Amino acid sequence: MKLLVADDSKVSRMMLLAITKGWGYDVIMAEDGEEAWQIMQEDDAPSLLLLDWEMPKMNGVEVCERVIAQSPENPAYVLLLTSRTGSDDIVEGLSKGASDYLSKPFDSAELQVRLQVGKRMIEMQDKLNATLEELTQLASHDVLTGLLNRRAIMEALPKEVKRIDRLKHDLGIGMCDIDHFKSINDTYGHLVGDEVLKEVTKRMQKVLRDYDLIGRYGGEEFLVITPVDKDSCTSVYQRICQAISAKPVITGELSIPVTISCGVTCYSAEVDGQDMAKFLNRADEALYQAKDAGRNQVILKQAIDQ
Ligand code: GH3
Ligand code: MG
Ligand code: MG
Ligand code: MG
Repeated sequence: MKLLVADDSKVSRMMLLAITKGWGYDVIMAEDGEEAWQIMQEDDAPSLLLLDWEMPKMNGVEVCERVIAQSPENPAYVLLLTSRTGSDDIVEGLSKGASDYLSKPFDSAELQVRLQVGKRMIEMQDKLNATLEELTQLASHDVLTGLLNRRAIMEALPKEVKRIDRLKHDLGIGMCDIDHFKSINDTYGHLVGDEVLKEVTKRMQKVLRDYDLIGRYGGEEFLVITPVDKDSCTSVYQRICQAISAKPVITGELSIPVTISCGVTCYSAEVDGQDMAKFLNRADEALYQAKDAGRNQVILKQAIDQ
């Protein structure tokens, strides 16, 4: 684990470097508070800090205060080294965000175990953060395809509408539904159906751009939101259709032709306002028309027919 050691005394620095290195820490040294603060602003800065309290330019408590303020939700563990022993001093140090302190001269065995406590705290915090990230990902993404799930894309939609309103840009909304997917399941089984869903997702992602949004709206139905010029509203969906029908999906020994139909509309500030249901229904109606018209195609239905 990375450990930042800051002390203005050369003798102390050399001694601290030698012992903490010996305990297996990846030690980064600073000669004063300012240097320590600079190191803490770099990417991948250490989370475990051993700071001398009395240092020129910026003392250990000030460094601690800044470091904690920099990322309060993910605080570093700061162990202060001090010759101050008054309870007022200790209260000050700990209230500025230090996690622990050790009085000088210190016993090296005590420093070792106190650093171990800090290391354990940081490891626990990292684990919690990773779990939280995993849970957030699980709550907003579909497990099979990795796409945004219905809830997440429906949450993203009003935000996107507001953004587009502000920028006075256009927004394309497409409902894309795999054709005769039930018969793929019925013919080859559910697991093969899952493989087809994954491959269709990949092909869609390939033709979409970073700022397009795609979500799994239902079983084999995807909602694709794309900031696009009103006049070229259908082009991205046509590219989706082509990418999917261009070649069969290969899985194991099987070669399965797959097509998709898209119902498309553009968001209209005058007609739709903030009512998502209005344009979603329009896209849905267009999708039904695309299915009726023979599938594997894009049908556009604008709010006001031009
Ligand atoms: P259409 O062209 O009219 O859309 O016909 P379709 O067969 O695609 O539509 P339908 O709604 O009749 O069938 C959709 C099927 O998608 C039924 C359902 O079992 C299947 N499905 C939904 N989610 C999944 C999934 O996660 N995996 C698999 N393999 N199948 C799924
Ligand atoms: Mg000092
Ligand atoms: Mg379908
Ligand atoms: Mg469907």
